[in-house]
Amino acid sequence: MPAPEHEATRPRHPATAARADALDATDPLAHCRGRFLLPSEVIYLDGNSLGALSAGVPGRIDDVVRRQWGRDLIRSWNDNGWWEAPLRVGDRIARLLGAAPGQVVVGDSTSVQLFNVLVAATRLRPDRTVLLTDPAHFPSDQYIVDSVARLLGLRVERVPVPELAAAFGSIGAEVAAVCYGAVDYRTGERWPMGELTAAAHEVGALTVWDLCHAVGALPLRLDADEVDFAVGCTYKYLSGGPGSPAFSYVPRRHSDCVDLPLAGWTGHRRPFDMVGGYEPADGVARGRIGTPPMLSLLALDAALDAFDGLGLELVRAKSLSLSGFFLDCVDALLVDEGAQGSGVEVVTPRDPDRRGSQVSLRHPEAGALVLALIERHVIGDMRAPDLLRFGLNALYVTHRDVFEAVRRLREVLDTGAHRAPRFRARGHVT
Ligand SMILES: *Cc1c(COP(=O)(O)O)cnc(C)c1O
Repeated sequence: MPAPEHEATRPRHPATAARADALDATDPLAHCRGRFLLPSEVIYLDGNSLGALSAGVPGRIDDVVRRQWGRDLIRSWNDNGWWEAPLRVGDRIARLLGAAPGQVVVGDSTSVQLFNVLVAATRLRPDRTVLLTDPAHFPSDQYIVDSVARLLGLRVERVPVPELAAAFGSIGAEVAAVCYGAVDYRTGERWPMGELTAAAHEVGALTVWDLCHAVGALPLRLDADEVDFAVGCTYKYLSGGPGSPAFSYVPRRHSDCVDLPLAGWTGHRRPFDMVGGYEPADGVARGRIGTPPMLSLLALDAALDAFDGLGLELVRAKSLSLSGFFLDCVDALLVDEGAQGSGVEVVTPRDPDRRGSQVSLRHPEAGALVLALIERHVIGDMRAPDLLRFGLNALYVTHRDVFEAVRRLREVLDTGAHRAPRFRARGHVT
């Protein structure tokens, strides 16, 4: 193993290191790092894939398992608020979405939630025949759009975001729904949700936004933007834990009339009447499906405490400071000092307004570089074929982390350490 701590004591870029420390010294979110349990030697830049462990989670899970499940048993559905949890936790997420209470429900995975709201959206536009989605959308989203189209006899058009306006101009009247991500999961590019929603509405189409890479990372204004439907996972920037349940946003203007295809018993108007015919509950409660994964849901509830009292504007400002500083470090350490031969290319937009909360670099040996960095305690990830992704969760990442990550990348490139045979293997998960 290399000795990163030793290396860290003699940085070769004192001015950039000093700038990192100065930025951290005035960071208004510095105290938030204590809300997470992270190994001290780890520089964790993969919170856009699996958020760090929130400090209140282990104690809460212990209580949920031993007292609520172990002692209170089935009474917990009433006495410990289990039954209301999908809507109660939904309201906590709603604040982060710029949504009034009563419009967000939690449960199942993003893929399931997307299926549910996408079919519901198309049922609101029964005489239209086209679904639009991004050819660069997360695979699950594309698969589900295709599957919904097969199910309902619709046609899918894959249109990159910059070409959406033209598509609305030509086939807008045929479009039932558009299904896009708020932030591109590979490049980290943020799309103008408000503008695109307005453009879709102008041609009478409905919008289904995937917020996986936006929720908890930047302010959202779902109500003000008049978004029709949105879904998102909770294990990325919200740090809800592996497999924590996803959410759907269904605004009030739709929630009493939408016909959701996954008509589960917990979304029934009177679930304990146990009648044979489905009558949906009022409002977003009809978006409940079956029994929620209660342990994961309550872990998420505890994880959300990390956002208590935090304004998303502050989170956004810190995130942009981190990503801007990351790009400065790339310029200073990987380009200016003559490492052009290293072949690192910045993929994330340099315009802060067009950035989400990650930095993506392109390099033909991305997979091996990411593995060599992990051995040096810098955890990012790789997206095939050639992207290195570094997620920047403003609640626990520091500018010093960013500097060290880029410095260690430079060191790997300089020494060719990533060419070692052990970095040729690729795990199941990347
Ligand atoms: C992470 C992610 C998902 C994950 O979907 P699951 O069903 O929760 O596994 C879906 N869409 C996008 C855009 C993502 O980034």
